[in-house]
Parts: sequence; structure tokens; C-alpha cells
Amino acid sequence: MKKAKSVGLPLIAATLALGAMSSCNRSEHTAPSEQADRSAGGIAEKRATVVDPHSFSRPREAVVRHLDLDLVVDFESQTLTGTATYEIEAAPEADEIVFDTRDLEISSVIVTAAGEARQAAFSLSEEQPFLGRALRVELPPAANTVRIAYATSPQAAALQWLGPEQTASGKPFLLSQSQAILARTWVPCQDTPGVRMTYSATLRVPKDLMAVMSAENPTERAVDGVYHFEMPQAIPSYLLAVAVGDLEFRSIDERAGVYAEPSVVEAAAWEFADVPAMMTAAEKLYGPYAWGRYDLLVLPPSFPFGGMENPRLTFATPTIISGDRSLVALVAHELAHSWSGNLVTNATWDDFWLNEGMTTYITGRLMEELYGVEYAQMLAVLGRQDLLATFEEFDPGSPDSHLKLALAGRDPDDGMNDIAYEKGSAFLSTLEAKVGRKRFDEFLRGYFSHFSFKSLDTETFVSYLRENLLAGEANLSQSPEMSDELDLEAWIYGPGLPADAWTPESAEFDRVEAQIAALEQGAEPADLDTGDWTTHHWLHFLRKLPEETTSAEFAALDIQWHFNTSGNSEIQSAWFERSIEAGHTDVYPALREFLLRVGRRKFLKPLYTALAATPQGLSWAREVYGEARGGYHSVSSNTIDEILGWEAGE
Ligand SMILES: [Zn+2]
Repeated sequence: MKKAKSVGLPLIAATLALGAMSSCNRSEHTAPSEQADRSAGGIAEKRATVVDPHSFSRPREAVVRHLDLDLVVDFESQTLTGTATYEIEAAPEADEIVFDTRDLEISSVIVTAAGEARQAAFSLSEEQPFLGRALRVELPPAANTVRIAYATSPQAAALQWLGPEQTASGKPFLLSQSQAILARTWVPCQDTPGVRMTYSATLRVPKDLMAVMSAENPTERAVDGVYHFEMPQAIPSYLLAVAVGDLEFRSIDERAGVYAEPSVVEAAAWEFADVPAMMTAAEKLYGPYAWGRYDLLVLPPSFPFGGMENPRLTFATPTIISGDRSLVALVAHELAHSWSGNLVTNATWDDFWLNEGMTTYITGRLMEELYGVEYAQMLAVLGRQDLLATFEEFDPGSPDSHLKLALAGRDPDDGMNDIAYEKGSAFLSTLEAKVGRKRFDEFLRGYFSHFSFKSLDTETFVSYLRENLLAGEANLSQSPEMSDELDLEAWIYGPGLPADAWTPESAEFDRVEAQIAALEQGAEPADLDTGDWTTHHWLHFLRKLPEETTSAEFAALDIQWHFNTSGNSEIQSAWFERSIEAGHTDVYPALREFLLRVGRRKFLKPLYTALAATPQGLSWAREVYGEARGGYHSVSSNTIDEILGWEAGE
């Protein structure tokens, strides 16, 4: 998933709020023997088992292997209704299988054992905040299939039902966002990244709409509104995805293409023309693409993230269609997840950096391959700025700035901030700098091959790193001191940025800073040398404008460069943020339009945060939010509710 503040360097500017901690009793799922033991003064060797504190399921006793969905998509009632049929494997002594559910209405469960299907006894545990309810299904001996008949709630947190007024085509649209633990709000599942399954699906949708999933997809509309899907590669539940809307398909090359609403699809296909070259570059570095096709789905503007790496079909915000291909780093990020995340997956959300830090690092490499080292350096510096800003949001020493997170008892969404992305990437860049690029590339290629279609936790990664990179590295000491030199403990389990961190630099940004200095010395905006600047130059410019820049000076900048009406969402967002901070309220009409149109949390969070810093700004923000909130996905509105102190029912 892409969430960061800088162009291309992902990310969801996720909420950092630590509120609403729930103390759920999950002791039944956590045996002391399964805890990592780091007390011996080092990182534990690979653990035999990993327990996910965000899932009720107990896959070592009974686990799903294949899912077959059969669902009716009803826009009127805003529900999905039908069945989820699982092929399962149960240990001989297992007498139940446990699924995660949240806000699902379960009507019946049928279990098949020894060829005989019969109604099964089941129970739902008490509701727990954000975790939902455990669905326990009694298993007879030799049970191999479980069919659950269910319906979703109109409030299902993963699903967003858009009205005709929220889409380009004027037709309704349904989209899902399952990461981190929202899949359970639309499919009963073992909702942990440690469990993988293949799936197939039949969706019945209105005849004038097309359905797509994270699977083999249709390229034409079905006249009867019935679509069949196969996903032959095993995936974790957070990569289950569905979208239904007035969609068209455009091919980019023989294995890449774009789905979008008709009025958007041509611009999207043009914007993403470099995807085949990115795929080639990624395969050269990290091995074959494992998923068949790579297509993108461009969603309506309310999609809460920049992108979501749903396999075979990346979900993308339309805010990356800039008309000049300048924001394609986001596509590279989602493509990179085809290796880091989708092929090799974090075992729990505490290990989120394995997905996102690795992906952020690879994104930089792909950008360098395609657009040159200066381009990649600019992205890296913007990413480091994001990371340093994120550190400031935490108390010094906060464990939330560790790579290895401790999210038990909290919504894992709390961990989805720039730490995993940018500190993770900084760690990997530091390793590369220490051992050399050639050696590090070989290591990563081996890593993706070794853990292909598997999940691993941080401790397993560290063991693998020690054995396969650090132990045999000639440039570094082969003695135990090597680890100390790298200070793995500080990188993985310490706050902030370790002293040995590699530091990105950009000569291009030195040019930008020279122009800012000229501005400070009295030059007029029109006199500045900005002719060849790209999006990244402008982002650095806006971020580095002196704090004392006055409202009148902001007005002069806008007269020269028209930031208010820039078609580039990254530039607009950075411009609005700095303007709000400077009290330059001239931007409010354009900002209002932006906040009403765009639902991407990465943009919304800093803008509402900046507005909330003054009583006047907060009051204006609450007024706009009252109008905009209904158009945001729950992932975004949950974050903004907290920033603005918005109460349910307001
Ligand atoms: Zn990502």
C-alpha cells in the first residue's frame, strides 16, 4: 500500500493516533513458548511459530487452503449476500475451525466430511473493537469443506459504496480495501497475513456494471452481469479485493493494462505507459513476475490510499494521473509489492516494515533504472524528510518508531505510517551501502526465491540476513562484531534513526535551495530559474520555503506558478499545507474544492491537521468536513474524526 507524503514514496499518511486502545483478552491464542526471546542480549533466532495478535484463527489446528465465493452485489441495500466455501485442512485432533468476522450476519454453516454434507454447529464470540467476532465452527472427523452462508452490513468497513454523484460516469461504484484487517468485514476468513489460500469467485452484479477482483479478470462486460474469477496463486486475506463499476479496459502491452471509468481510461493508459519497462526492470533485479498479468484499476477520487497492491490488479487513486507521468513512482511501488509483500509477506502487522520498507527500497531502485540516479536521489531525500517529520510525531524513544512494532491490543492501522516505509527503506539502503550493491542484489534475489509464497516475521528475516548476507561478506568483518557494527538491535528494536544510517543526497535539490536563497535575498518569483523543474523539485521548494514566508509572499508565488489550480495533487497538497501554516487563507476556496473531491488519506491527514492547529482553522475545517465526510472511505474518516474531534452522529 502506498501512503507516504512524498511523491512516489508511498504511503498512506496513516494515523499515528494511539487512542482507543482496547484491552482484549487474547491469551488463548498466545502461548509463552511462542514469544520471541530476546533476553539473551541479541535478536532471537528464528522462531518455530508466529502468532498474529490480530486474528482469532488458529491455523495450526485447522487452516483454509482454497476459498470459493458466490455473492450477489446489491447496490440498493449496500450488501453482499451469498456463500464462502472453504477447502480446509484440520489436524486430526482439531474439533473446530475458527474464522474472523466483523459486522457479518452468518445464517448457516455446512460442513462436509467423508463426502457427507451436514449443518454444523457454530458460534460467534463477543464483539471486540476492530477485531470483530470469532466464528467457531464445529468439525466432525475428516472434515474437508466448510460452507458459510452470510451477508455483509451496509457499514462493512472494507467496502465503499459510491453514489452516482461520486463517480465520473454517473453510475454507482463499489470498491474494497481489505488491508490491514478489514477483509473480515466482507468475507468470513482467517484474516492473518500468515495464512495463504487460492480462491475462485462468482459475482452477480447489475448488468450495466463490470466486476473485477484481485484475480484473473474479464476485459469485456458480461451481458448477464455474472462474472467468474480464478486466483490460482495463494494469497493472504488482506489481498482479497473487489470493485464493481462502469469500467472499461485498455491494454498497455501483452501482460499489462488499465481498468477505469470510460472518461478516465485513455488518460490512465497514457500515464502508465512505462509499466512494461518497470516490470522488465524489476524482473531483472529480483526474478520472474509470479502473477501472470499486471493490471491497474483507477478508482474514483474517494479511494483512501495512493494505491493498494491487490495482486494482478493494483488499485490506484486517480490523483496520480498528473498528465505528465511525474507520479508514476506510486505505480512502481505497487508493482514492487508483487515481490515484497505479495510474494514474500509479513507474518503479522508487527512486521509491516518487511512489506513496506522493502517495497520503498525497491521503488527507488526501479525509479533509478527507468529515470536515472538524480530522479531516485530526489525521491530518497523526500522520503527521508517524511521520516524525520514522522519521528517528531512520536515521543522520543517511543516504541512506535521501532521497525518491529508491538500492535497487540491496538488497531494495526496505527502502525501504518512512514516508519515502516522510510525507516525500513533506510535500513536496507544502509545494508546496500555497507556490502555493495552487487552483493545486496544477489541477497534480495535469493530472499525472494527462498521465501516465495511464504510469510515471515522480522526475527526470521534477521536470521536469514545473518546467514546469507552478513556471515559471508568479505567487506565486513566475519566475526560476531559485524552485527554490532551494523547495530541490528538498534535498527530493529530501537527508536529513531541509528547513527550508521545511510544519508541520501540530491544535487538537484541543492539547485532548488539556491533559488530559495535568491528569493530570500529579494529576488522576484519571476526571476527564479525553475524552467526544468519536475514535481519533485517543486515539492522540495514548497517544503523548504522559510517559515516566516508571509501571506503576501505566498500570494506572489501563486500568481507566478498557479499552485492553487495545479492539476498535480502532490504539489497542490504541499502548497495548501504550507499556506495553511502561514495563515494564507486565500487558498481556502481551492482547498475546500480539493477536500471535497479527494479522499486520499495521505493528503487529508496533513491538511486537516494543519487546519486544526488554530481555532479559526478548526472551525472552518469542521464545516468543510461535515460536507465531505460522507464521501470518504472509513479508513480516511476514522483518521480525520480523531484529528477534528468529530463525534459519531455529528
Ligand atoms: Zn506499499
